[in-house]
Amino acid sequence: MRLDRFLSHKTRLGKKAVRQHIDAGDVTVDGKPAHHHRQEVDQFTTVTLNDSVLQQKEAIYLMLHKPPGYLSATTDPEHPTVIDLIKESFASELHIAGRLDRASTGLLLLTNDGRWSRSLTEPEKKIPKIYQIHLRDPLRPDAAEIFSRGIYFAYEDLTTAPVELTPLSSHDATITLFEGRYHQIKRMFHAIDNKVLNLHRKQIGALELGDLPPGAYKRINKQVIWSST
Ligand code: URA
Repeated sequence: MRLDRFLSHKTRLGKKAVRQHIDAGDVTVDGKPAHHHRQEVDQFTTVTLNDSVLQQKEAIYLMLHKPPGYLSATTDPEHPTVIDLIKESFASELHIAGRLDRASTGLLLLTNDGRWSRSLTEPEKKIPKIYQIHLRDPLRPDAAEIFSRGIYFAYEDLTTAPVELTPLSSHDATITLFEGRYHQIKRMFHAIDNKVLNLHRKQIGALELGDLPPGAYKRINKQVIWSST
């Protein structure tokens, strides 16, 4: 929303009065003097007028080590969800930025900032997501080449963007995706007659799970999250 519209809405002041306050330096945005009436603000921007705070909502970003068996959903009548692992008063405000299947483990990001979670899935941003997988059958030698060309998904009528596959052993590999289609990795291996038995996400953009234990989570600050993804 534009700063002048936000101020009119909050204070009931007219357009002219609002602009006069901005020009006089009475308004701050995230601690700095407002520089233009058309400046964009959102629900997490701190805005003050003559030192009174008009809005101050905290954006929350969490990194969780998802254990197996938890659904990437906010509520479910049958299975425990990842939100059940968040022992914080704000847990019910969070949503998931990039799901993992119920059996999959590893890095999951949660937030109350829809602008950021939407930006994560923008295809043109090509944010890498790195997974470690364990397979039922030995990896075929041409798997990396096949995946780099993409796999056709008939249901969506699309070919997946190039995927990087680095073999680690006969049955293990690291996979880097630059998009996130439904069950993408499992379906890609199904297409080459193999099966993923374990799938673990290690990294999204520059954010690494590191040694966070299964079921544990930690907060990440706004600057780190926006600059890493
Ligand atoms: N691809 C899958 O098949 N499952 C996941 O959980 C993530 C990516």
